[in-house]
Amino acid sequence: MPICLFCLRDEEADALTFTDEHLFPAALGGNLVIKDGSCGGCNHGNSKFEQALAAELTPIRMLLQIPDRYGKVPRTAATIVAPSETYKGHVQSDGKVVLTPSVTRETNEKGEHEAVYRFLTDARKEELRAKAKNKGQRLIEMGPGDPVTVEVHIGGDLVVIGSEAGLRMVAKIAYTGLVHLAGVRIVTSDAFREVRQFIFEGTPQGVARLFVNHSYLKACEQGPHQHSVAIAARRDIHRVDAIVRLFGELTYFVVLSDHYDGPDFVNTLVYDAYRGEENGIFFAHIQAELLQTEEVRNDKETVWDDVEHFVGNFCEFLDRALKQRGIQDLGEINAPG
Ligand SMILES: [Zn+2]
Repeated sequence: MPICLFCLRDEEADALTFTDEHLFPAALGGNLVIKDGSCGGCNHGNSKFEQALAAELTPIRMLLQIPDRYGKVPRTAATIVAPSETYKGHVQSDGKVVLTPSVTRETNEKGEHEAVYRFLTDARKEELRAKAKNKGQRLIEMGPGDPVTVEVHIGGDLVVIGSEAGLRMVAKIAYTGLVHLAGVRIVTSDAFREVRQFIFEGTPQGVARLFVNHSYLKACEQGPHQHSVAIAARRDIHRVDAIVRLFGELTYFVVLSDHYDGPDFVNTLVYDAYRGEENGIFFAHIQAELLQTEEVRNDKETVWDDVEHFVGNFCEFLDRALKQRGIQDLGEINAPG
């Protein structure tokens, strides 16, 4: 009988409908699910903060070619800057830039009204020809003109990943990761009350925090399409801590419990968003992650809650990763003739 992982109500007592809960949100290319993990109400509540994140991360997913659960890489909005003008458009998943068709109404020197259509598809051109013929209007067709080199700008500000919504989403990833690694029974205990509350309302503060620790990132290197959750549960210090890593470099520390008295366990889940599957990793790597969990918490080098540093570090990492893939500079993507 399913029980909602978030409000802990069960199907029988509350006549609820249940849905599968994504461990990593679909916005991150996640398709690992906890079967019947949440009730409709909780699922709806969680999806609200995931939508904001999805929009923000679309350009990154396009650049890293991370598909959704249907195998589709998202296209992303772009601004195309030509020497004389700036246009709107989008970059398709294959890197092709498509300008958004536009129509402007102008009056020429003779006082005639002109509608100027730009960036049309062949089908749309054909439609216009037929329409002009029917209405007895004159259609002046102009060629593509001389090719120009343009700059294609995509992206935007990374705001949500460091905001309260981002932290709540990360707490949810750590919490559902714990379910995946240790089973449903353990998380429904009172030891995890605070993290459930944090997922719902963003309090108490400090449950999830972003951090940067270069030694940690170096010790356990991950690629830009890997997400992971490393969990260490220790009865002696009554703690269950998790480090969540998104896109290989965005690191968060989640206190899943600080009054835990269950069994000790340590485990790491690494998810490859490019392939859409869990990654088997070496045991040695797992050990390294766990030792690091304690170290990160106590290390003087760890920089906590500094959003600017956190986002800046990620952008540098992304830049290096994209250069390795041959994307030297986004300005090199040219608009088709
Ligand atoms: Zn619920």
